[in-house]
Amino acid sequence: MTTASSSPQVFTGRIDRIEVSATMAVAAEAAKLRAQGANLVDFGAGEPHFPTPHHIKDAAIAAIEANFTRYTVVPGIPDVRKAIVERHATDFGSDYSIDEAIFTTGGKLALFNAIQVLVDHGDEVILPVPYWVSFKDIIQYAGGKVVLLETSEAENFRITADAIEKAITPRTKAIILNSPSNPAGSVMSAEDLERIVHLAHERGIFLLLDECYVYLNYAGKPVSGGSFTWAKEHIVVLGSLSKTYAMTGWRAGFALASKSVTANLSKLQSQSTSNATSFVQKAAVAALAGSQECVSEFRAEFIGLRDYMLAKLGEIPGVTCTKPEGAFYVYPNIGAFLGKGGIKTATELATRLLHEAHVVTVPGEAFGTAEHIRISYPVTRQNIDEGTRRMGEFLARLE
Ligand code: GLU
Repeated sequence: MTTASSSPQVFTGRIDRIEVSATMAVAAEAAKLRAQGANLVDFGAGEPHFPTPHHIKDAAIAAIEANFTRYTVVPGIPDVRKAIVERHATDFGSDYSIDEAIFTTGGKLALFNAIQVLVDHGDEVILPVPYWVSFKDIIQYAGGKVVLLETSEAENFRITADAIEKAITPRTKAIILNSPSNPAGSVMSAEDLERIVHLAHERGIFLLLDECYVYLNYAGKPVSGGSFTWAKEHIVVLGSLSKTYAMTGWRAGFALASKSVTANLSKLQSQSTSNATSFVQKAAVAALAGSQECVSEFRAEFIGLRDYMLAKLGEIPGVTCTKPEGAFYVYPNIGAFLGKGGIKTATELATRLLHEAHVVTVPGEAFGTAEHIRISYPVTRQNIDEGTRRMGEFLARLE
């Protein structure tokens, strides 16, 4: 008997070129175990553990009560586009106009749409390793060719302009930068970023700047590529309210780009999601235009949690870890345990850690490296104590 779902002709080449997002797969597996009664320590999908601040929730509730529940224009109501532009101008000195901003159903959709709009079959896209899980698949979905750029763990996986320059070829269409980065928390120097902007602009290459963690830069003052206004034509800033304002489930993101790129993002969005949720747009205005106190409070808490997590991991023999300078992940090297206890890969290690010690992590293969696991640390200190204790005991048992 043949089943339609197993026939290779049924599904498109593009859907076969991608896999389920590893972070989402880990979250689903964790939910399944939790439903069976497992007491998990969840270091899996990365999201702030704080509730969304009250003034943001109140704005959404007020919008619903006022029946602000109908379609809006596709790229977002003028107020939200204005709030995006003004927040960015205040914080980074950029000069985008309202026509150069689009509000999207999460930062991931802004990225997805930007790649569909800019990357064609055979176009090369430079992607530094380790990379956030979805970059590679989204490029492949568009038919682009991923050009991986290895970085050095000894240098905190930091990307340099020299390395980018060497990876550029006549077929390079775009470069993806994510600083601070997910999963390693590496931060580019402002000088390197500026040199890369020059390189890209001079050669007509698009820079896709995933700035989801721009406010979680612990190395110094946050820097956005969007502040290089002279290169606007080739820069797409991809932003998210998820991490900055603890709004992961709301799906609130945006892009800032030239008028022509923004118009094309809006054209694509008009054929898929249309507008992002109406009352989420009102909440986003409250987030972006309201008090920014929560942003610095979250940032201070994350720095404390990073240091606490690093100290606890440091107590586990055999585990080494770079010190992240931003975002909210640590990316420990577990290479010393591969080959022990029948475990050959980071994926096997993360799977056994989940099933035997009930600790959720994401294996390094999802981010392009073979000897790491990613730990998301926005959790309580008690959870860090318990999770690292379980990890230590599990790893000590491997022979
Ligand atoms: N930043 C989150 C993570 O990497 C996003 C999850 C996702 O959308 O893949 O865990």
